[in-house]
Amino acid sequence: MLELLQPDEYVASVFHINLDGLKKRGIEGLIIDIDNTLVSWKTKTADQRMLKWFELLEKKDFRVCLLSNNTKDRVVKFTQAIRIPAVYRAAKPRKRAFLKAMAAMDKPPSATAVIGDQIFTDIFGGRRLGLYTVLVIPINDREFITTRFVRKIERRMLNDMIQKGKLVKPCNK
Ligand SMILES: [Mg+2]
Repeated sequence: MLELLQPDEYVASVFHINLDGLKKRGIEGLIIDIDNTLVSWKTKTADQRMLKWFELLEKKDFRVCLLSNNTKDRVVKFTQAIRIPAVYRAAKPRKRAFLKAMAAMDKPPSATAVIGDQIFTDIFGGRRLGLYTVLVIPINDREFITTRFVRKIERRMLNDMIQKGKLVKPCNK
């Protein structure tokens, strides 16, 4: 069970992800969470830097599908500017939405990575399907009370993984 909660990589933000490193691992498809991974939950659209990053993904020939547990309204509004496929109300960590995202990208689990900020939804959901997983530090720490409670557990688990040498602490540079 515990290994299903362990991310393969832990980075400061999506901009810190080594895209060429993913390529070398055979990763061609990226399933990306929105809230607190790409933008804070109150940010409605992607900024210039984010749009540039999505351009870079395209240039590097990655297929992308956004996967969010948030509402259709939020997800559609966010994806309008980037024009990439998205699955809303994904009910992560359930497998169905991850399978749907992989079908949309036409990529198998062995060529797919999940990028997200939550261990119990993004990482757990990805790992139980055998996907490569990248955890990012959440953008904004102002969150709902239930999430705040989960974050406490997450922090404890991450510290434990780092101490045991199973995970490398993210570098902000
Ligand atoms: Mg999130």
